[in-house]
Amino acid sequence: MINILFAACPEQFSRYERHLTRCLKQEGITANLTTSCAPADVDYLVYAPNSALRDFSPYTRCKAVLSLWAGVETIVSNKSLTQPLCRMVDKGLRQGMIEWVTGHTLRYHLGMDKHIVNSGQIWDEANPPLAQHRPVTILGMGALGSSCGQALAQLGFPVTGWSRSPKAIEGITCHNGPEGLKKALQTAQILILLLPDTPQTENIMNTNTLAQMPKGSVIINSGRGPLIDDKALLESLDQGHISAACLDVFRIEPLPKDHPYWTLPNVTVTPHIASGTRTVTAAEVVVENIVRGEQGLPFLYLVDRTLGY
Ligand code: NAP
Repeated sequence: MINILFAACPEQFSRYERHLTRCLKQEGITANLTTSCAPADVDYLVYAPNSALRDFSPYTRCKAVLSLWAGVETIVSNKSLTQPLCRMVDKGLRQGMIEWVTGHTLRYHLGMDKHIVNSGQIWDEANPPLAQHRPVTILGMGALGSSCGQALAQLGFPVTGWSRSPKAIEGITCHNGPEGLKKALQTAQILILLLPDTPQTENIMNTNTLAQMPKGSVIINSGRGPLIDDKALLESLDQGHISAACLDVFRIEPLPKDHPYWTLPNVTVTPHIASGTRTVTAAEVVVENIVRGEQGLPFLYLVDRTLGY
């Protein structure tokens, strides 16, 4: 019998309990899945930063901390967390992100706001260009960025991707490293941010990099708030260099009521809803890693502490 401690938002336990129990049974694993267990007896921690757990040091037997969130910036530097840490890569979360990113990309590409938001009597017969004439760039070619890129490429957008290490992804022009960033930005009529929040990515979109984008381009941020230097973006929006932004994530969440983003007509604020972990599919991923732990196999989706993601 193994002990699995659920250390996430307590209200979510009943939903996860059902699906984790189902998956454990399917795998033939006998487990005590609980919200309360003596730390020294815990074999696996199913974790989300919205739990109260901050000190991982008493969990001496714990083989892995299995995060329910894709972003790990709030725990990766926790010195007491010495156990292997796995981030969430979930096909439900990925599909949600594809749909949200594709929706907002199409919205800007087709200029939909002009007809939906504007109540004036507009009869402008100009057709929007085809996707093939709208270059899109995605910063972050990981689980989410590469999937969104492939979906957009399937729609016909010329997609450029940027990552830390070199990549070859079918249908996507890939650049990497600091020297590749300028190339990735210079064609970006629509820029999608799907990077993690690390010391290296903080303020990656700043006065200098925003200026490298074509005039009139649009930013969609569903990565993390600190990727953008907010003051620089506000200035660029004011000058019309960046024509619009759709922001799902912020340095402070909820976004403070007096933040200028709320009032700008060319900024859309969404409340960190681009995509969430889906219980049914996430339970499968968690249990897959528990099975691997029990079989002595390497864990999937391990976080690299030195890189911070
Ligand atoms: P991932 O698989 O870890 O991918 C991260 C990507 O960023 C990788 O391609 C990585 O490059 C690249 N990267 C990291 N540091 C870099 C640097 N310094 N320079 C260039 N590229 C860098 O993560 P994911 O699962 O796709 O998730 C991405 C982020 O989305 C998460 O960290 C989270 O913050 C955010 N997210 C948001 C929501 C939401 O609802 N808004 C939901 C889920 C996730 P390599 O490939 O070379 O490693």
